[in-house]
Amino acid sequence: MSGLEERVRTLLRPEVLALSAYHVPDSKGYIKLDAMENPYSWPEGMIEAWLDRLRRAEPNRYPDPACGPLKAALRSANDIPAEAELLLGNGSDEIIQIILMALPPGSTVLAPEPTFVMYRQISLSLGLRFVGVPLREDFSLDARAMEAAIISHRPAVVFLAYPNNPTGNLFEEDAMLRVLAAAPGWVVVDEAYAPYAEATFMPRLSEFDNLLVMRTLSKLGLAGLRLGFLAGAREWIEQLDKIRLPYNINVLTQISAQFAMENQPVFEGQVRSVLRDRQWLAEELGRLSVVRVYPSRANFILFKLLSHEASEVFQALKEAGILVKNLHPAGGSLSQCLRLTVGTPDENRCFLKTLREIIAL
Ligand SMILES: *Cc1c(COP(=O)(O)O)cnc(C)c1O
Repeated sequence: MSGLEERVRTLLRPEVLALSAYHVPDSKGYIKLDAMENPYSWPEGMIEAWLDRLRRAEPNRYPDPACGPLKAALRSANDIPAEAELLLGNGSDEIIQIILMALPPGSTVLAPEPTFVMYRQISLSLGLRFVGVPLREDFSLDARAMEAAIISHRPAVVFLAYPNNPTGNLFEEDAMLRVLAAAPGWVVVDEAYAPYAEATFMPRLSEFDNLLVMRTLSKLGLAGLRLGFLAGAREWIEQLDKIRLPYNINVLTQISAQFAMENQPVFEGQVRSVLRDRQWLAEELGRLSVVRVYPSRANFILFKLLSHEASEVFQALKEAGILVKNLHPAGGSLSQCLRLTVGTPDENRCFLKTLREIIAL
C-alpha cells in the first residue's frame, strides 16, 4: 500500500471507504431507456420563449435564496396544501441527504427493499444505521413485517417510494397507513413518479404530523435541471431549512423550472403519451411467454426473464445500441430482472423488435 493510500484508509470514516460510488454508464449514442427520463423535447416556440426568459438571468448575482416565485409556481402545479411548507433541493437526492443530516448520530433509517438505492447509500455515507425490510414476492408492501421492524428498530425515518423504484408498483394505501401509524418518526413518501401514478399522499399532509411528501421534476421531464421539493409541517421544514446550503437552487434552474410550471399543458401532453405507450409496451411484453411483466404506475416497466440470462439479454440490447437497467446484479428478488424506461414510440418499437430477436436466438 502506498503512503497516500494508507493515509486515505486512516483519515476517512470506514462507512465511506466501504461504499461504492453510484455508477452511471456512458450513454452517448445509445437509445437511452435506463434512467426514467421523459424522452420528449419541447416545441420550438416554447424553446424560444424559454431562451427569452433566460436572457434576463443575472449569473453574476447569487440566486434568490428563498425561491419565492418558484415555490408559488410549484404549489399551484402540485396542489400543495396551503398550510404545508416547502423545502427545495438540488434534486430530491439532496433532500434525502438534508433529511438524514438532521438526525442524531446512531439513528436508524428504514425502508422496504428492493427500493431506491440512495436511501441506503446516503444513510451509510452519513454513518447512520439502515434497515431494509423485504417486500413480498409480488413486490407489495408487507405491512406486518414493516410494523414489526418499526417496533424493534425505532427508525427516525421511514422512506416509502410511491410508486416504488425499481419495481414500478404502487403500495396499497392501507399498508402505507399502517406504516404511518406505527412509525415513531418521519415517514417520507417519495412521489418521484407522481406525474405517472395518478395517486398521491399530498392531500393527507394535514392528517399526519409525521408525514413528509417529496417530489422531483426529474421524471416529469426536467432531469437536467436538478430540482426536487419536500412538503410538510412548517415546524419540520423550518429545522431542515437550517441544513440546506443557502444557494442550492441556481439561477438557471429557478428561471427554467418556473417557466416549465407555466407550461404545464405541454408536460401533461407528454405524460399522456408516456402513459399510453407504457400500456402498449406492457401488453406487448406480456405476449412474450419467456417474460414476466410487473404492473407499473411509473414511466418504466420492470420485467423478469424466465428462461434467459438477464445479463446476457442486457448485453445484447446494449450491443444493438439500446441501454436499459440491468437489475440482476442486485440479486434476491431482482434476479433476472431488467428495467425499461418508456421511450418515444419509435424507441419502444425498436426495443421490442430487438428483444424479440434476442430471445428467439
Ligand atoms: C429518480 C428518483 C429520485 C431522485 O430524483 P432526483 O430529483 O433526480 O434526485 C428519488 N426517488 C426515487 C424513487 C427516484 O426514482
